[in-house]
Amino acid sequence: MPMPAALDRENPSVLVMPGPGLPAFDYVRASKPDEVCDLLLQHGDNARLLMGGTDILVLMRDGVLAPKILIDVKHLPGMTTISFDPAGGLRLGAAVSMNTMTAHPAVKQHYPLLAEAAQAVASYQLRTRATMGGNLCNASPAADTAPAALVLNARCVTWGPDGERIIPVGAFFRGPKQNVLMPGEFLAFIDVPIPPPGWVGRYIKLGRNAGGDLAIVGVAVLGYPDANAASGCRFRIALASVAPTPIRVPEAEAILANMPITGETLERAAPAAQAAARPIDDLRGSARYRKAMTRNLTRRALDDVWAGLRKEG
Ligand SMILES: Cc1cc2nc3c(=O)[nH]c(=O)nc-3n(C[C@H](O)[C@H](O)[C@H](O)COP(=O)(O)OP(=O)(O)OC[C@H]3O[C@@H](n4cnc5c(N)ncnc54)[C@H](O)[C@@H]3O)c2cc1C
Repeated sequence: MPMPAALDRENPSVLVMPGPGLPAFDYVRASKPDEVCDLLLQHGDNARLLMGGTDILVLMRDGVLAPKILIDVKHLPGMTTISFDPAGGLRLGAAVSMNTMTAHPAVKQHYPLLAEAAQAVASYQLRTRATMGGNLCNASPAADTAPAALVLNARCVTWGPDGERIIPVGAFFRGPKQNVLMPGEFLAFIDVPIPPPGWVGRYIKLGRNAGGDLAIVGVAVLGYPDANAASGCRFRIALASVAPTPIRVPEAEAILANMPITGETLERAAPAAQAAARPIDDLRGSARYRKAMTRNLTRRALDDVWAGLRKEG
């Protein structure tokens, strides 16, 4: 298939016709966080960060981006480390590959939802390179790990010219392919707190084929017993690929907290998720289809989680 042409970002009147392979760039293997901040501040949009490269290198190959410098941040301290503390939760280096993450005993035991979401990404081969940090920073509305991160109340820990900043994942996305990172700032860790006792989670993705396609719709649900809720439990629901950013659905969550959980209540929550979806038409699916599938997948995920909660309880 011929590679598409793209407008030059710096000079939109120029049409870039990509040749085979990547455009020329300098590769910098950073060894200190300050070095990364300085390079980002010095070169602005001409410098980009590199982790697995499964987003950035594709965009460069297709002529959409042509940074002069790629800064490899995988070798900074802690970037490929996973640590777990039963009181504090999981700390995931931003450059941990998805396969390393899903195979880690703490992730398997304490965060199966994270593993389920990561395993929905493309293929095993791609996941040897792709990172959850890159998935979040790329800020695609279709990012498969984002809904799980949202319902797990994950936090992005960044390094920047003014030091460390902690940003809840719910506040990390600004728009399609846009995050809230400031100039000179980059993602270092993803912190995932200990989920509430007795929780059950599920991620369901609808794609055009079983492996290797972006989500048409993605739904993550996390449910847990809560004596303070009128229904006796709470559910968190997040959606991918149906809005400019991955989103939580508080309207549907409120229905499930306030009414006894019956088939009827689950049936009322799913349309509330559908109503919150603001999808677009694209080559993967129409907005109308996405809306309908948001309702169906939310209902399926709620059924699975509710069945799991009843089994546990
Ligand atoms: C064939 C194919 C299939 C795919 N299928 C899926 C899929 O099913 N689901 C899905 O969600 N995604 C999919 N993707 C997209 C991609 O694989 C994921 O988004 C992946 O997680 C990106 O991680 P990475 O480490 O490769 O990121 P990179 O490409 O290295 O980086 C992604 C972006 O984040 C920036 N960045 C990197 N590191 C940092 C940092 N530390 N701080 C701030 N910014 C940073 C980069 O500059 C770049 O803009 C697919 C891609 C391909 C090529």
